Amino acid sequence: IRTVPVGLGDRAYDVVIGTGLIDKAGEHVLPFLSKRKRCAVVTDANVGEHHVERLSVSLEKAGAAVDVIVLPPGEETKSFEGLAHLSDQLLALNLERGDMIVAFGGGVIGDLAGFAAAIYKRGVDFIQIPTTLLAQVDSSVGGKTAIDTPRGKNLIGAFHQPRLVLADLDVLATLPARELACGYAEVIKYGLLGDFEFFEWLEKNVHAVLERDTQALVRAVGRSVEMKAEIVAEDEKEAGRRALLNLGHTFGHAIEAEMGFGDALKHGEAVGVGMAQAFRFSASQGLCSAQDAVRAVAAIKAAGLPTTLADVRSQPFGADALIAHMGQDKKAEGGALTFVLVRRIGEAFVAKGVDPAPLRAFLLTEG
Ligand code: NAD
Ligand code: ZN
Repeated sequence: IRTVPVGLGDRAYDVVIGTGLIDKAGEHVLPFLSKRKRCAVVTDANVGEHHVERLSVSLEKAGAAVDVIVLPPGEETKSFEGLAHLSDQLLALNLERGDMIVAFGGGVIGDLAGFAAAIYKRGVDFIQIPTTLLAQVDSSVGGKTAIDTPRGKNLIGAFHQPRLVLADLDVLATLPARELACGYAEVIKYGLLGDFEFFEWLEKNVHAVLERDTQALVRAVGRSVEMKAEIVAEDEKEAGRRALLNLGHTFGHAIEAEMGFGDALKHGEAVGVGMAQAFRFSASQGLCSAQDAVRAVAAIKAAGLPTTLADVRSQPFGADALIAHMGQDKKAEGGALTFVLVRRIGEAFVAKGVDPAPLRAFLLTEG
């Protein structure tokens, strides 16, 4: 068991990473419950089927009164309709201000239940128990909560930090391989943006991680969470350095938007292509060496992730369509293009006001 503190002053919390944590969840969660010891566990049907029984038993053993709310799996749940449904369930249970919401699932459940916690009766505490690799290394840490609207993803939300995060590596055993690879995209992102040594370790251990070797997962999740915690503690509201976490995401979101956010291309896969493009674009502008770009791309590919537009769709994307999406990116300021670019593997930087002309020329060569 490894504990990573997220240093946010009076809202500081721990991320506990290890095995067997679901069965010991009661012990970990108990200190955060009020006298009533009530908690509402929010999960989806997939996670519910495999793991929620053990979690309930463990919480009840610690003396908690537990209600479980099971939502349909999938991104569509992270919507106004999903929020209305969840809020209604919480009200029907008579959940009070001092009670606890436990988000038990992937990023969809974490973002939705976290947002519900931020606004339910003007705010209740919540705990994250992430069950996908992506949620363990990314979405459960940092306090961003949100839902999607037909106009775009994550546009309605709040910053609401959890009181505790429990990342049980055992639950990853039931995660589909494709979801695991998507989480790996965010793991390697940390190496690429700020830790060359971690990147080198991942190059050697990609298969151990994807085979869910416990020791490898402890290191991969541990280092990822450490880096995210450090960046978030320094820049909670993304005024500066936190933007580095968007490496590959401006390119990636444009690809996702063109593909229609469906099941054909998952977020982590789009980020795989996006990070490869960030390296290739940086190399084309003389910002980083061509060797580094080749090496970064090879490491992404080694996880079975796509790294080119052609890997994703045989029909070309068109530079202008992609650039149009980039200008509408939530992170764009007044239409100016902001990218995370790289000087070398392990050193990314935020580039504001990127000139669309070389970008367009680059995207034309990308197809
Ligand atoms: P997800 O929550 O949809 O989970 C992926 C699939 O795996 C789902 O079908 C789910 O039911 C299933 N699943 C989850 N855990 C499982 C397990 N242990 N065993 C078997 N099946 C399991 O998707 P995700 O990739 O975890 O999260 C994506 C979401 O996270 C997106 O909505 C994205 O916007 C959000 N996100 C948020 C942040 C943030 O900072 N808040 C960061 C990154 C991503
Ligand atoms: Zn991402």
